[in-house]
This record gives sequence, C-alpha cells and structure tokens, in this order.
Amino acid sequence: MSNQLFTTPAKPVIPVHGSDKTFPIHRIFCIGRNYEAHALELGGKVDRDEPFYFTKSPDSVVVANDKTPVTIPMAMGTKNYHYEMELVVFLHSGGAQITTQNALNCVYGYGCGLDMTRRDLQNKAKDTGKPWDYSKSFEHSAILGSITPRAQFGNLANQQIQLSQNGTIKQNATIDTMVWKVEEIIAYLSQYHILQAGDIIYTGTPAGVGAVQSGDTLHGSIAGLTDILINIQ
Ligand code: MN
Repeated sequence: MSNQLFTTPAKPVIPVHGSDKTFPIHRIFCIGRNYEAHALELGGKVDRDEPFYFTKSPDSVVVANDKTPVTIPMAMGTKNYHYEMELVVFLHSGGAQITTQNALNCVYGYGCGLDMTRRDLQNKAKDTGKPWDYSKSFEHSAILGSITPRAQFGNLANQQIQLSQNGTIKQNATIDTMVWKVEEIIAYLSQYHILQAGDIIYTGTPAGVGAVQSGDTLHGSIAGLTDILINIQ
C-alpha cells in the first residue's frame, strides 16, 4: 500500500514512428520569436543577443495522428485561439552547460507540434508585463505527432514546414530560416536547466499564425516527419 493520498495522471508518452517504442515526456520548453517574419507579424522583433523561452506543463499534451484527426475542445477563456505550427525536438540525454558542438548528441528525434495559444491573453500579458502561463500552458495546448528518430531523419536543413486550416495553407516556411538553430537552443537552455532525457523543445513558429473556429481541421507537416491532424470541437 502506498501512503500517497491519491494518484495523479501519468506523464504523457509519445509514439515513435515505425516502432513499438514510446518516448516519456519530462518537461516542455518552448522558444519564442524564432522566425523573423512571425516576430514581425505580432508586432515584436527578433532578439539576436539571446533566445527566450517559456514552458508548458506536460499535462497540456495531446498526441495527434497522421491519418485520423484527433478532436480537441475549443479552449475556454479566449476569443482568439491560435495555432502555431512548430518543429519539436525530443532529448534522450542532457546535462548542464552543453556546447553547441555536443548539443545534437542529446537529440533522440524530431516531430511536428502545435503550440496552441490564447492570443488575446498573451497580448494582455505582454501589455501588462505579466507571465504568459495562462496563454500558453493549459489543457490540450501542446499537440504532438509521433517522433522520427534523428538517425532516420538526417540533418536539419531547409525542410518545409506547413500548416493548413480547412485545406488552405496558412503557414509555409523552411526550418533553415529559424533565427536560433537547434544546437544553439539546447546550449542556451542548458545554461539555466540541467536538461534531462524526456525534455522536449518547441522551436518556434513561422509567420501565418491565426485563429481557429469550432469545426476547423488543422493539418501540420514538416518534410521527413509524420503529419499531425486535429479537429477543433
Ligand atoms: Mn510557439
């Protein structure tokens, strides 16, 4: 018998494409303003001195499929609920003070992700100098497709990243236009956190973010990775 007062939900696990293995999630880091055109569309600007990040709770995760859409509810507390399509990096090792030269050795694989955002609340937080949590970290806000191992994917280069809403392409870029590269992001985060196996990193969204409505279908893709399909209830 455990002396724990109650049990809490297990942390989410993400399937590995073409395998029966799963990846257990420990923490979720998210980089902001990592594509210049997106920073500009939100009235911000890219900081080339250092990246910045926020976190989402692991209980924000929804596992998406590539063939059959998973339905998520419209978020409560917002009138401007946005999609942000992103490359997500999954770590199988970590440490502190990781160098950019060693950073990619920590990467197990990559996947498609949606950083769902209550844009009205994020703007309110920005205007008032308050934290972003209520705009970023809540139930069903971290959507993840299955993982493609790095060895199978190959090098990050100019792979296309796209998001379609009801069949219309809204976001369309290549991942080489990221301001901060994956190895720089890992090195940066490891100055403030002892990174661990199970940590994952959303790497920022390209231009073209927008609001979702009830009944929408979102289709996210990155060349070489498994697509994600989501319906908004
Ligand atoms: Mn984002």
